[in-house]
Amino acid sequence: MTEEEYYALWKRKTLLLEIKNQRKIDESCVENTLCDYHLCQLCGGDCCQSYPCAFSPFDFLDLRNLNYMRPILNTGIVCIRPVRSNNFILRVRGYEEKNTIIAKNRHKINPCILASDKGCLLPTLYRPSEGLLFVPYLKNQKIKHSILYSMNTCIQEYAFYKKVLNQLYSEYKSKKIPIPQNKEEKVEKLMKALVKQP
Ligand code: SF4
Ligand code: SF4
Repeated sequence: MTEEEYYALWKRKTLLLEIKNQRKIDESCVENTLCDYHLCQLCGGDCCQSYPCAFSPFDFLDLRNLNYMRPILNTGIVCIRPVRSNNFILRVRGYEEKNTIIAKNRHKINPCILASDKGCLLPTLYRPSEGLLFVPYLKNQKIKHSILYSMNTCIQEYAFYKKVLNQLYSEYKSKKIPIPQNKEEKVEKLMKALVKQP
């Protein structure tokens, strides 16, 4: 099995786990979580233009392993966001994070740096769980969403990784990292780093 295949299986399990935790839908729904391209094309990416989506800790093969996590952060695509009670979560970087991969806790529009005219630059399975589990559907001709991975769940899950995230935060808080110019190249690097078995 290649590293990419292993990661794909891992990611699928991650998504299933999050969906099962919802208790309101069954496994057969997993395919519907992998983006409804038809509706997203109609909409043009409103969510991604508003705020970048968050990774779950299980989008990473080993969040506790600093040597696995550093190359991921060094791409300049993933940022560390401090959240309540001295916790942290990891999400994709927004244009508000200009020279740093440490997010400021401001509640304002912050378009994702991976949102492009053609949609998300990351191939589906590499996208953060929060984005994949924000599932659009049509009701009365309007686009609605099922939120299968909430920010509360995300914060709770990351609470178990406080120590390692604190360490990464200390390492990266004063590093100047500009928004990547060649995003496609950094996306390739990010995918390679994500699948690299620790
Ligand atoms: S998930 Fe919803 S808001 Fe985001 S691009 Fe798709 S339809 Fe638009
Ligand atoms: S990573 Fe992709 S899916 Fe998530 S907000 Fe950015 S463009 Fe949208």
